[in-house]
Amino acid sequence: MVKINESSYNAIIKHAEAGFPHEVCGVLIGQDHTITDYKECNNLNTERAHDRYELDPLSFKEADDYSREVGKEIIGIYHSHPDHPSMASETDRQRAWPEWIYIIFSINKGKYNDARAWILEDSGEKFYEEPIEVTPD
Ligand SMILES: [Zn+2]
Repeated sequence: MVKINESSYNAIIKHAEAGFPHEVCGVLIGQDHTITDYKECNNLNTERAHDRYELDPLSFKEADDYSREVGKEIIGIYHSHPDHPSMASETDRQRAWPEWIYIIFSINKGKYNDARAWILEDSGEKFYEEPIEVTPD
């Protein structure tokens, strides 16, 4: 089970809808499998921004500094799939790090459809899905 507080969840949906038809990305901040905060990051991939994301290392660094300041850590990454389901793609798997939570927000025609959380198996060969629980702030 991955837990995320309501205000972060809703704000990420807004970020993903606003970025449509491009993929947006950002980091998930918290502890263990509980997300309590997030930070938007720049998507450096402008050439294929409709179906790829490349998290800007500079915004990642800023998000990491921020997490430490508030005594938390980065525990995963979110990104959007414009006009695609919230299934993790082969590219997503190849670029994933073990133990991190990957939440994919499916945005259809600019509107939030659903979101699913994926974690890489220890073998690195595939993702398994963790249910998401949105918790009150
Ligand atoms: Zn993806």
